[in-house]
Amino acid sequence: MSGSEFEIIRRYFKRQQPQRDDVIAGIGDDAALLHVPADTELVVCMDTLVAGVHFPESSAAAAIGHKALAVNLSDLAAMGAVPAWATLSLTLPDSDPVWLEDFSQAFFRLADRYDVQLVGGDTTRGPLSVTVQAHGFVPGGSALRRQGAEPGDRIYVTGTLGDAGLALQSGEHAGHVLQQRLDYPEPRIAAGQLLRDYASAAIDISDGLLADLGHLLAADGLGASLNIDKLPRSLAFTAATRHQALFYELPLSAGDDYELCFTVPERGCREMELALSKQSIDVTVIGVVERQAGIRCHKENGDLYQAATDGYQHFGVMGNG
Ligand code: ADP
Ligand code: MG
Repeated sequence: MSGSEFEIIRRYFKRQQPQRDDVIAGIGDDAALLHVPADTELVVCMDTLVAGVHFPESSAAAAIGHKALAVNLSDLAAMGAVPAWATLSLTLPDSDPVWLEDFSQAFFRLADRYDVQLVGGDTTRGPLSVTVQAHGFVPGGSALRRQGAEPGDRIYVTGTLGDAGLALQSGEHAGHVLQQRLDYPEPRIAAGQLLRDYASAAIDISDGLLADLGHLLAADGLGASLNIDKLPRSLAFTAATRHQALFYELPLSAGDDYELCFTVPERGCREMELALSKQSIDVTVIGVVERQAGIRCHKENGDLYQAATDGYQHFGVMGNG
């Protein structure tokens, strides 16, 4: 590691005050030394954001710093985990102090909200790329999995769908509300933890509802029927897409929403809805798990709907998150 890289770590990423008492050694040793509580399972995930692939080269540094952590916290949320630690691998074309200040502040703003401590990382020179690994805890045996849904289970999503996709399509014409949804996704951490008591399976929506629900269903060889008029849409989204194909296509197929999609046995639905509404978490039932493989979309009036695409795919076959 060169002098300037050491300086970057010291200035922007190493914080003086101790944060979590389960961090025995954080940034500054050869590796982080961490205490995992007894009877707890460690949940670990990692996501890379590459400039020009996952975000435009021109994106604000703050948006990149937020999103790099948020997409990982979203994966922890989908497992029902309580976030704890993160590591950060940063590849930078140069060391621009304004960029680093904005990036690190946004990263830590989100980290602090969920009591996540940055405990290590790596800093190298090259084309802009950001990799975050996040770690969280679940009580032994209680994690939410993609696997576990059964025919008859109701399918739910948190929040609203299609906002980020519409912002991406609209470019500089996207309004503030939609642009925020693309740049500053909110990981559904509280929802994930509550759902440990109710959901039979869960996944976060990074590649689009059809693609990600498809993964969940495929884990058990199942299918589903969706009422696409029930897909939750924001006011800004509905105002901009009413009477267009996008009104259906984006909530079904656009990525980057980072909402949770989960299934609940019918007998537990009421209790689940009550528990989440007490915490002001919005969820919407959008369909039902069926034995027959494949996802069948229909409108409120019963008409079948054939979606044009089924989600964002890198290299044609792999998902992006
Ligand atoms: P080593 O050469 O032993 O691999 P480094 O010199 O790469 O260690 O890193 C020194 C310390 O700084 C380590 O604790 C490492 O985890 C931490 N670190 C390096 N880059 C970052 C970063 N971008 N964010 C947080 N911690 C970092
Ligand atoms: Mg290193």
